[in-house]
Amino acid sequence: MAPPGVGSSSEKRHNDTMSANERDIVVLDGGFATQLSCHVSQQIDGDVLWSARFLATDKEAIIDAHLDFLRAGADLVITNSYQASIGGFMEHLKLTKDQSYELIKESVKLARIACQRYNKEFPNSTPPMVVGSVGPYGASLHDGSEYTGSYAKTTPVETMREWHIPRIRALVEAGVDLLALETIPCKIEAEMLVELLKKEFPNTKAWLSFSVRQDGKSLAYGESFQEVARYCYDLNPQQLVAVGVNCVAPRLVETLISGINKDRKNPVPLVVYPNSGESYKVELGWIDRDKCEPVDTYVQKWLDLGVTWVGGCCRTYATDVSRIRQEVEKWKRNKEEKRHQNGQCTQK
Ligand SMILES: [Zn+2]
Repeated sequence: MAPPGVGSSSEKRHNDTMSANERDIVVLDGGFATQLSCHVSQQIDGDVLWSARFLATDKEAIIDAHLDFLRAGADLVITNSYQASIGGFMEHLKLTKDQSYELIKESVKLARIACQRYNKEFPNSTPPMVVGSVGPYGASLHDGSEYTGSYAKTTPVETMREWHIPRIRALVEAGVDLLALETIPCKIEAEMLVELLKKEFPNTKAWLSFSVRQDGKSLAYGESFQEVARYCYDLNPQQLVAVGVNCVAPRLVETLISGINKDRKNPVPLVVYPNSGESYKVELGWIDRDKCEPVDTYVQKWLDLGVTWVGGCCRTYATDVSRIRQEVEKWKRNKEEKRHQNGQCTQK
């Protein structure tokens, strides 16, 4: 197991030295459950509530995991609420409806505490954002169906909507800066969420991120990623800060996003936060890490392709976030140098 990535790579986030242009790229955090595993001894993968169980059992470990990412160079932390739901907490933690609602809010409070501690450590740094994780309906089924979208066939969209509303409301009420509608496998749920944002949460912004197939072009449920991404963005460009993919093998990202904004007047801002590229086998857990190129080796290419929000998902640690941050800084420096060179040329 990799150690939690501590030690700051903070050549970043010093207000006084950063131009507006340099701030355009936002570095996300990494896999929350992955980093949390460095702070707890209990098994997380395989738990019916996944990392959300620790909201009830180990609040300090959650704060520590968020802090690892901030110290590693993340501009934001994503709350530990991916698999949190009112029904899930009532059933598996034996809480009341109200207590379950409060526990979802707790995920925001803990993320905020981590940000405050970080700001105390680095008083000159920009306050990090707290992003509320909204996993798909399928995640609550605990059968991996967020990676197939199979429930889209059998679950009325109204059921999904009713399930999502209170958990999103709890995150918004607790004061998130942004929502991450993430690992969404199918068009029907994505469309519903984007509309829901408009109707129920008109003052809250979000990014929308899909789970996809191995073919490098389709959503997990089979629709075209690029078509659905453009369609959803156009439904609500005022509230969507970005659309993209997460928890995908990094090697698949380039083909997924290449050309998505070809001939578009209003380009879709892109968010990408892949997993480590390892495969997950129920009986073996995560395998083949040694066969995967680390996420950071792809970052410059993605930035060239227009990605503005970049980070990691499952099996990426704070150490990976720190390397992603370094690649982003390198890319920005190169860009600045090129601009400078070009400027000099035109003056001659
Ligand atoms: Zn993931």
